This record gives sequence, C-alpha cells and structure tokens, in this order.
Amino acid sequence: PIRVRFAPSPTGPFHIGGARSALFNWLLAKKQSGTLILRIEDTDRERSTKESEENIKEALRWLGMDWDEGIDVGGEYGPYRQTERLEIYRQYTEKLLAEGLAYHCYCTDEELEAERQNQLQRGETPLYSGRCRHLSVAERDAFEQEGRKPTVRFRVPENKQIVFTDLVRGTVSFESNGIGDYVIVKSDGIPVYNYAVVMDDALMQITHVIRAEEHLSNTPRQILLYEALGFSVPAFGHISLILGKDRTKMSKRHGATSVEQYRKLGYLPEALVNFLALLGWAPVGEQEIFSLDELIEQFSIDRVAKNPAVFDVDKLNWINAQYIKKSSPERIAELALPHLIEAGYIKEDELTEEKRAWIVQFVAAIQEHLSYAAQVLEHADIFFHDEFAFESQEAEAVLKEEEIPAVLDKFQKKLSALETIDAAGVQALLKGLVKELKLPGKKVYMPIRIALTGKMHGPELPHFIPVIGKERALRRLSASRS
Ligand code: GLU
Repeated sequence: PIRVRFAPSPTGPFHIGGARSALFNWLLAKKQSGTLILRIEDTDRERSTKESEENIKEALRWLGMDWDEGIDVGGEYGPYRQTERLEIYRQYTEKLLAEGLAYHCYCTDEELEAERQNQLQRGETPLYSGRCRHLSVAERDAFEQEGRKPTVRFRVPENKQIVFTDLVRGTVSFESNGIGDYVIVKSDGIPVYNYAVVMDDALMQITHVIRAEEHLSNTPRQILLYEALGFSVPAFGHISLILGKDRTKMSKRHGATSVEQYRKLGYLPEALVNFLALLGWAPVGEQEIFSLDELIEQFSIDRVAKNPAVFDVDKLNWINAQYIKKSSPERIAELALPHLIEAGYIKEDELTEEKRAWIVQFVAAIQEHLSYAAQVLEHADIFFHDEFAFESQEAEAVLKEEEIPAVLDKFQKKLSALETIDAAGVQALLKGLVKELKLPGKKVYMPIRIALTGKMHGPELPHFIPVIGKERALRRLSASRS
C-alpha cells in the first residue's frame, strides 16, 4: 500500500495551494487504502510558529481531512516534526562527511557574495566554485581558529544526468553540472529543507511524493541525496501552480488566499474541498459537484493536469452556492451571525433564543441568493431596519403613479385582516389582489415591494413579509405613504 505525506512549513497562513496539495495526497491515500502522514517542516526556525502549525491542523480538520500518522496522532516513524529529528539528521551527515560525499565549507556570506558578483560580471551563471572542496587539514584548522562555523556542502557528482518520471509531468531531466555543491546543513547545525526532506521521506518509507510544482527544481538535488545516502527514490508528482484569473501567480491581489479567510467569509468546507479538487484535476465527464466519497472514488493522479490551474472565484462561489442551497438555514445562520454582529445589526448580548430563531428565518428567506454566508450583509438592511430611504427617484416615482394608492390601500386592508402570516398566506393574498384589481402582476408587486423596502428588487414578497411580520409591514406601508 502507498504511503504519502503532506509536509507543510508552518510559516504563515495556510494557503489554498497547500490545502490542495494536502487534498490530493489525502484522496490518493483514501482511494488506495494507503497511509497519509502529516509532517511539520519547521527547520526555518525564525519563520516557523506554533500558531501556524495549529492553524494548519485546524484547517485540515475543518476541511474533513484526517491523517493516519504524524504530529498529534503519532506512529512508528516519528517524531514527525523536523526540529525533533535533528539527532537523526546528524548521524546521516556524519556518514556523508566520512564517505567524502559532503564536506565542511568555511566560506563566509561576504566571500560567497563577492564570488557571485565576480561570476555575474564575467557573464557566468553564479555557481559555488568549490573553494572548500579540498581544504588541507592546516587550512581547516586555521579557519576553525578564526572561529568560523562551517556549513556542510554536498559534493555534486559531475557530468551526471538526473532523470525521473514525474507522475504528472512525464520524463524530466536535469544536468548535475548546472547545480553546484549546495549547502545541506547550515552553520547552526540545522539541515536545509532539501536535505531533511530526503531523510524524512526515506525513513518514513514514503512511496509517492505529491507536492507543488515549485519544488520540481528541488527534485534533482533531492534525488542526488537519496543516491548518496543509499535510499531508494520514491515516485514524484508535481502538481501545477495555481494562477489568478489574470494568469499571474495567485497572490493577495487576487483576493483571499488562505483557508482561514474563506472559512471566515462563510464558505462551506465541503464546497471548498470540491472546488480544490477541481483545481488541476479533471474528472471524467461533466459532473462538477462531488461529495468527498465521490471524490475518493473518482480521483486519479493520471487526470491531474500539467498546465496551471486557474483560481476562478466565480466558480468557487457557484459551487458554494449549490452547497448553501442544500444546507439547513440554521447552519448558514450560524455562519452569518458573526458578520451580522460585526456589522452592528445585532448585539451579542441581545441574542435571545427568539432573536436567533428570527435570524434563521431571515437567512432562510435569502439563502438561495447567497454565494457565501458573509453576503447576508447585502440583504440585511431591509430585514433589520424599518426606516429607509427610497433607493432612487425612479422607485419613489412608482408610488406616485395614479392607480397605486388604491393598490396599497387594498393591500393594507387585506394584510391587516390576514391571520397567519406565512409564505402561503401572503402568496394567496397577493394573487387574490392581482385578480381583483385586474392589473398586471408587476403593477401590484413592484409598488408593494417599494413601499416595504424602498427598493425595486429583493427577495420574494411571500418570503420577505412573514419575516418582518404583520406589524412591521403595516408600519412601513403607512410610513411610505405619508
Ligand atoms: N515544507 C515544504 C513546503 O511547505 C514541503 C515540500 C514538499 O512537499 O516536499 O513547501
């Protein structure tokens, strides 16, 4: 059975792209009854934070993804946090050094920078020159005496072609000569990503490394290290970049980029997962709405596209709207509530049971118009505020048309007389009114809507009126006519 992993660096908000990598690994593991490992790559000690790690775990759980091994759950191949594995790494470094496959480098940052500048001036591609490759014992001692702390560099074999078959991109090949001996352990003794990842993936017996395309150029460096360490090389699959609609790399300019942001806006996890699955994976057929179980059944790495995926927020909104329509108003109201509080429509301490029930009613009335829960704010005014201004002169003018006062009179009388105010009751009342007045429907509905809300468009009256109730509706009617 396969063993795959998701190995985030906890250095900031959990990005949509990370969630997609996690999802593809998760789907693959589920589909093939394999094992998914969650490993934390925190060797960048300055940028790694516990909050970020927590945030990643929470986002994964929220999206419905669990892991079989890794931080929190443990497993045979732990520890699963890189900073807790330093002793393991040290042993392999000793081995590489002893075998002459790696060496200590005493060059300072300034020296390396000067070398780089010289190479650039000569029109060469900057590459470590290998100055410390063959230091004599005396030279080494002298550097040590100066107090220089060495890095460890990997000795890159010359004239070697590194070829591998990428599960997504097919055959990929690199020349070792273009690489240059690279640092595998920094002067503080902490291994770099390209090195730690190899030891971890090998020791954790990962069979398939599925990750973002940005790591494609790291893969030859990693393969060389697998070979030097005597490990067998796993299969690799690099999934495409995610681009914004303008075809540049997805970034803050394109809107929300973190899972957290979408969660806060009131997107549903099952909708986000559905959308993420389609970012680079093409199902057979036209189906676009997939449950998690359907995704597991249909997902395959062969149908993951080589070309970049475009993050189309309109599509996300459409998918989310489909899931919102199928959800209970209670659930959507729960997601909408923080937004209503923040915008000042309700105060937290006024949230009685009754008020909550009313909010559910309000949400139910507009639910089919929502792409995400925060959009309740676009509809809230007419439900929460009895006082309003006409949205336009055009709207106001409608109420001054000759036959309209009679329409509103009749409506007012009928509404006062109506005993139970529910959608069916209001619907019947309005239909009866149209018939009785022998007017086109619009001549009846439009002025009533404007008299009640000041707007020419909005939710269906049979949904709207029961939410504000008879008293408030009648009050609004008289106010708009005075
Ligand atoms: N820590 C790396 C990242 O977050 C993982 C890359 C990999 O999957 O090898 O980009």
